[in-house]
Amino acid sequence: MPFEENYQVTSNFSELTHDFLSSHLIAPTPVNYAVIYLYISNENELLGAAIDKKLHQGELITVDFIADLFKRYISFSERIENTVLSPFEQTLSNTLDQITRQVSNEEKATKSLQKLDKILTNTENHQSLEQIVGYLFNTINNTKAQHQALSLELSTTQQEISQLKDKLAYSRQEALVDSLTGLLNRRGCDDKLQALSFAGTHSSLAIDIDHFKKINDSFGHFVGDKVIQRIAKTIKSHVSEQDLAVRYGGEEFLVVMTNKSIPEAKKVAENIRLSVAKMKLIQKETNTLLPPISVSIGIAQSGDTPNWTSLFEQADDALYKAKNSGRNCCICA
Ligand code: GH3
Ligand code: MG
Ligand code: MG
Repeated sequence: MPFEENYQVTSNFSELTHDFLSSHLIAPTPVNYAVIYLYISNENELLGAAIDKKLHQGELITVDFIADLFKRYISFSERIENTVLSPFEQTLSNTLDQITRQVSNEEKATKSLQKLDKILTNTENHQSLEQIVGYLFNTINNTKAQHQALSLELSTTQQEISQLKDKLAYSRQEALVDSLTGLLNRRGCDDKLQALSFAGTHSSLAIDIDHFKKINDSFGHFVGDKVIQRIAKTIKSHVSEQDLAVRYGGEEFLVVMTNKSIPEAKKVAENIRLSVAKMKLIQKETNTLLPPISVSIGIAQSGDTPNWTSLFEQADDALYKAKNSGRNCCICA
């Protein structure tokens, strides 16, 4: 849609949103605005159905109801930023500009009236005119004060929107990262892969901790978690910035190396395996040295595989072979 047309549609939705909010006596806060904007623009089917149902039942649309819809259907969604917050920000900014121009006009008008008042004071027999000028002066001054207060309120709303945008960006980022290790989680991996072209030569490592159950059984889940964290750190330290290090499951990791073929990938895999095998972990409370820990790694390269999923499956098959070959080793598909 051309910009002009798009702007027109967005402005119409904005106006209708304002009308809806004021007719239902709901304050135009960012959250209320966002929900009703999506309702008006028919952007979210489930959200629309929930509001329609309320309206058909003749029930009040309350702020709590809107807050609930926001949580259920739109918080953390990227679309809200593009479809709601940014257009709202634009409308606000235009309104603020208009008000600023208005205040400046009012200032000019009051200055002219002040001059006129001086002239009239110096001239005899103009008392009634003087009164009218005084009345106009006060009225314009009051309107100016109201506009300034409104401008302040809108600026606060602008700040709220900016904070809301920051929070959304943060939540989106959080949802893509594994909280225990700081590596990407599966969703984060999918998200990054979407931006990568499969064309070219890429490699993948499937990494699994050996006999991890024994560590949990002997030292407890807490120590198990610490081991996962240490191994994640080791993996991260061996891959480059462009590569993806992912916690794929409980004690399973995936590394995606873009533009690297098997020989390079094998080097990285061996370095990870050796670093883990050399790790010395001490349980702090009891000062006990944990038994040696190892990982098995399956390595695969794209080329014969049609997509990322089948590349990962090949790496997984190789990992299975590594497990069957006695563990603590790297095997290429
Ligand atoms: P193998 O060498 O064949 O991989 O043996 P394994 O014992 O590592 O394999 P298995 O997959 O049977 O066991 C994995 C264990 O990892 C089971 C589960 O309790 C544990 N686990 C999974 N996720 C977590 C986690 O987040 N923290 C901890 N502490 N343990 C986990
Ligand atoms: Mg496993
Ligand atoms: Mg395991």
